[in-house]
Amino acid sequence: MISLRLRVDPLPIDQPIVIRLRESYTADQTQHDAILVDHDGERREYDFQGFSFVVRASPDEDLDGDVLLVVPGQASAHRLIRATSTHNTLLVTEQCDQLCVMCSQPPKKYHADLFEQFAVAASLAPEDAMIGISGGEPLLHKDRLFPMLEAVAAERPDIGFHILTNGQHFEPSDAVRLVGLGSDRILWGVPLYSTNSRTHDLIVGKVGAFNRLERGLTTLMRAGASVELRTVVLQQNWRDLHTLADYITTRLGFISVWAIMQLERIGYGRMNWSSSFKDTSMEFEQIARSVDIMAARGMPVSLYNFPLCSVPATYRGYAPSTISDWKRKYLDFCADCSLHAACGGFFEWYSHDEGFAALGAL
Ligand code: SF4
Repeated sequence: MISLRLRVDPLPIDQPIVIRLRESYTADQTQHDAILVDHDGERREYDFQGFSFVVRASPDEDLDGDVLLVVPGQASAHRLIRATSTHNTLLVTEQCDQLCVMCSQPPKKYHADLFEQFAVAASLAPEDAMIGISGGEPLLHKDRLFPMLEAVAAERPDIGFHILTNGQHFEPSDAVRLVGLGSDRILWGVPLYSTNSRTHDLIVGKVGAFNRLERGLTTLMRAGASVELRTVVLQQNWRDLHTLADYITTRLGFISVWAIMQLERIGYGRMNWSSSFKDTSMEFEQIARSVDIMAARGMPVSLYNFPLCSVPATYRGYAPSTISDWKRKYLDFCADCSLHAACGGFFEWYSHDEGFAALGAL
């Protein structure tokens, strides 16, 4: 697994700061850049505004352009942006007003406001980067999130964002601001688990969530926003999946894509694995039916986090590699698989003993 933290020697600071690591001086140098002055084994010494800043990493690891969040007194820094990766996500809050049975990042009460630092980090990202924003629920802090997005848009219009939100906090009055942010720059990832409001509410652990979500989706539609509708396949919603496909094609024709997703075995997803995981390698019919409904009506659909050998051959074209590089792994039998390069494999925390029953190299 790729570490999202780097060991550092603490700096004499009293506020979290953002630092970009550079191998040498460049034309686009900023006050946030630290320039490499010495490299000896795992130890790299940078010049940051006249201070020595020491980072420790594997000697062959490429850190040029990486953006770090350095916190006072901490001997490790958060690697917010890895310049060579397309899988960079800013976790802007751990607070949430839902309690989903499959939550990979169970909510916490405490919130550390780092929006200013995140805005700086995004503005230092490589050209045309698409940066993920997740939580918790980012829109619990939309009074801080929207200005951050607007500030980055003003400075770096080439940067895009993929924002995961539970869709509970959009108000009709947000539409103008959403239009201003631009539908080409922001993709909103919004979960919908069932057309049955009770089932949806039970999955997300919040009474009234379905109705609230319908209103949020209406606001996004009116703003012309780009929406990736996300549905994790669970034992709880499995039987209704084709009904959801019907609902999407008749009522949510504006969405950019419907992502049918496999479960991530971490957080509450791990705790509730035996009661939630649906082994789609054994039973794919509902997914096939749902994909067919979407395709027949000309709407985009995708299968996220599905190992390719769990998907029948005719549907593999719908299953791109989606698991982020830093948390992706393959199993022993993948070594001889002809589809290895195209397959997204497994989450690092996937346990094959409790996982898909019908897999194997192709
Ligand atoms: S054997 Fe491994 S690499 Fe091949 S399709 Fe299955 S999970 Fe993917």
